[in-house]
Amino acid sequence: MDAREQVEDMLRPDLRGRTAYGAPQLDVPVALNTNENSYPVPHVVVVAMTRAVEAVASGLNRYPDREFTALREGLAAFLSRSGTAVDAAQVWAGNGSNEVLLHLLQAFGGPGRTALGFTPAYSMHPIITTTTGTAWVDGMRGVAGRGAFDLDAGAAVAQVREHRPDVVFLCSPNNPTGTALGLDVVEAVHDATDGLVVVDEAYAEFARPGTPSALTLLAGRPRMVVTRTMSKAFALAGGRLGYLAADPALTDALRLVRMPYHLSSVTQAVALAALAHADLMLETVGVVKDQRDRIVEAVAALGLDPVPSDANFVLFGGLADAPGTWRALLERGVLVRDVGIPHYLRVTAGTPEETTAFLDALAALVPTHAGAVP
Ligand SMILES: *Cc1c(COP(=O)(O)O)cnc(C)c1O
Repeated sequence: MDAREQVEDMLRPDLRGRTAYGAPQLDVPVALNTNENSYPVPHVVVVAMTRAVEAVASGLNRYPDREFTALREGLAAFLSRSGTAVDAAQVWAGNGSNEVLLHLLQAFGGPGRTALGFTPAYSMHPIITTTTGTAWVDGMRGVAGRGAFDLDAGAAVAQVREHRPDVVFLCSPNNPTGTALGLDVVEAVHDATDGLVVVDEAYAEFARPGTPSALTLLAGRPRMVVTRTMSKAFALAGGRLGYLAADPALTDALRLVRMPYHLSSVTQAVALAALAHADLMLETVGVVKDQRDRIVEAVAALGLDPVPSDANFVLFGGLADAPGTWRALLERGVLVRDVGIPHYLRVTAGTPEETTAFLDALAALVPTHAGAVP
C-alpha cells in the first residue's frame, strides 16, 4: 500500500473520497473570485496595526487573553453603531467566521444531529457541518413566479417542518446569489424549529438601504445567532477575524468547544487596531457597491442574466457553458468563480478598473459564449 492508501485506510469513513475547499489562489492581474475587498488596508491603519503588534510582541511569551475581552468590547461597540445595542457578553469571535461556525456546529450539532441549509448557499456550511459529524440536509431555494434564488417564509418553514433540523443556516445576503432575506423569513424559520438558527450576515455591510439585519431580532431569542466577518467589507480577510452576536447564554456554551487561547495576541491586536479605524476600513464599501450595481446593469445590457445583489458580488446567468467562459476569462487575466450552478458564474465587485477589465473581457466573449438558459 502506498502512503495515500494507508492514510485513506485510517481516515474517518465519512471523510473518505471527499474533496477539500479549494477556491483557486492564482496569480492573476484581476482576482475577483473570493469576494475580498480589492482595496489594500489604508496606510494610517497599517501604521496603527504595526504599533499594536509591536506593543504585544515582547509579551508573546505569555498566552493571550483567553476571553479576548477588549476585542469583544470593540466588536460590540461596532455592532451597536447599527442602532441595535449589543453587549460584549453577547459577542463571540474566532479565526474567521468559519471558525465561529465550526464552534456553533461543535456545540449544537454532532453525530446524530442534522443541519439544514437552503442551496445554493455558502459552500462552507455543509463542509463545516459534516466535518463535525453532523448530517447535512440540502434545502431548496426558488419561489415560483419570483426569482429562482429567492426564499420565502412558506417554503422555508415547510422544509424546516419536514426535516426537523437541529441547526438551520440562513445566509443573508446569500452567497453566491447575493439575495437578502426578509426578516419575516428569519422569524418564521425561528418559530418553526426548536433548534439553532444561524443567520450568516458576512455581507451585511453591502446590503442596499432598507435591508434589515437579524441583529434586530436577537433580543428574547436565545436560539438565534447572527454571524459577521471582518473579511469582506472590513477589508481584513488576511487578518482572520469573524464574530457573532447572540444571547450571552449561547456564547457561554461556545467556551466548551473552543481551543484555549484560540485568538492569538497578534490577531487580537490587529483586529482592535482595525476596529479603532472602522470608518476608514469601511470607506471603500460605497465604491464597491457602485461597482456591483454597475456590473448588474452592464451584464444585463450584454444580454446576460444578473441576479440583483445586496452583497459585493454578482451571480450572472445566460452562459452556454459556464466552465468554458470561466476559462476564457482567465485567459484574459480575469479570475471569477464557478460555483457549480450550470450556466452561471459569480464575480466579485472590485475597483472601477478591475470591473472595467472584467466587463471588457466578458463583452468580448458574449457573442460566442452566451447561450439559452433552460
Ligand atoms: C466569505 C464568507 C464568510 C467569511 O469567512 P471568514 O472565515 O470570516 O473569512 C462567511 N460566510 C459567508 C457566506 C461568506 O461568503
